[in-house]
Amino acid sequence: MADHGERHLLHAYIDDELDLVRSLELEEHLAECPDCAQEVASYRALRQTITPELRYKAPGYLRSGVLNRLENAERPKPAGMGSGARVASAADAALDAAAASMTTDRERGR
Ligand SMILES: [Zn+2]
Repeated sequence: MADHGERHLLHAYIDDELDLVRSLELEEHLAECPDCAQEVASYRALRQTITPELRYKAPGYLRSGVLNRLENAERPKPAGMGSGARVASAADAALDAAAASMTTDRERGR
């Protein structure tokens, strides 16, 4: 993979956002590509210079305002038989089947 095909994934790689397979593929490329390896090294160096003190911390009123709005936000209602409703009805059917089976077993035991 000397064509830098995964170069667009370098940021995701540095942020540990890639799955294992992609990470391993990218590491293979980095081992044989000094250009990309250099880019990763400079991103990491840049990252280390950005210390937590330099990050902007949101004021407390903003945090509480966002949390308040999230708590009061209306959740979207499922339209008709959505996937959630289908799962619920499948679970109901499974419970009914289990209950019927238990009843049958109990009647057999008599
Ligand atoms: Zn490369």
